[in-house]
Amino acid sequence: MSTETVHRHADWVIRPEPAPEAPSAVYEVECTTCLHSSGAADSAEAAYGWAARHADGLPRHTGFREIVHRFWRAFPAA
Ligand SMILES: [Zn+2]
Repeated sequence: MSTETVHRHADWVIRPEPAPEAPSAVYEVECTTCLHSSGAADSAEAAYGWAARHADGLPRHTGFREIVHRFWRAFPAA
């Protein structure tokens, strides 16, 4: 989904959060074996790095779930 995507429903339009302080996305990777998490990171690379270090320390923990949070805001339709 592009950040340019606009969703319309009834009298509301959903657009990417325009607040300048809002990150474009927050990334997290969770181990599917023990459910430990990288924690929130501003870059996917930071989360993937945590996963590689986690697998290095626990060789049976090789499955991960990626969680990406993107921020949106509803505006009244014009
Ligand atoms: Zn694990």
